Amino acid sequence: MGELLLRFFIGSAVCFLAFSGCGGRGQKFYLVERVIDGDTFVLKDNITVRLLGIDTPEKERPYFEEAAQAARRMLEGKKVRLEYDIEIADRYGRLLAYVYLPDGTFVNARLLEMGMAGVYSRAPNVKHADAFLTAQRKAREGKAGLWGIQIALADYYVHSKRTAVFHRPDCPFAQKISKRNLSRLATRGDALDKGLSPCRSCNP
Ligand SMILES: [Zn+2]
Repeated sequence: MGELLLRFFIGSAVCFLAFSGCGGRGQKFYLVERVIDGDTFVLKDNITVRLLGIDTPEKERPYFEEAAQAARRMLEGKKVRLEYDIEIADRYGRLLAYVYLPDGTFVNARLLEMGMAGVYSRAPNVKHADAFLTAQRKAREGKAGLWGIQIALADYYVHSKRTAVFHRPDCPFAQKISKRNLSRLATRGDALDKGLSPCRSCNP
């Protein structure tokens, strides 16, 4: 995307924040027009919002559709309050937000608790990273949603200290990690509790 176009998108997102919303006791609420997938939805004026700190399964992966349905049920046609972290928008011009329903439900955390998403906290946007890890741990313990899927466990796991992704040891991407950056994890749970995300290629 061109720099100018990007500025336009971020500009329109910021204008949107400044001049719209449903008001009420200093907290602005925005109507969700439609949900795109488990972690992305659209407000009026085509403002797209990406839920911060979580990642729902990609298309054609298990629980893609369930996660989209869960987000749809929770968000579509509802009013939401947005909370920001350090970065307000990503390079696609999507707003990055923590999202709350009028009854106080924290949507990002709720999707984690339901096992519809995994933790995806990346610097500098880590305001709720600890709460998200707690929610994910609870979901795993209860085998909620995608955590109920049976997967073949590896003897151990690896990750590069330079990324937040973990792999099975035989993954081609794992083999490319230099000795200096290579870190070994005893279990899948250890990797997940560190907030690492599973590699999309080896699906550890
Ligand atoms: Zn991998």
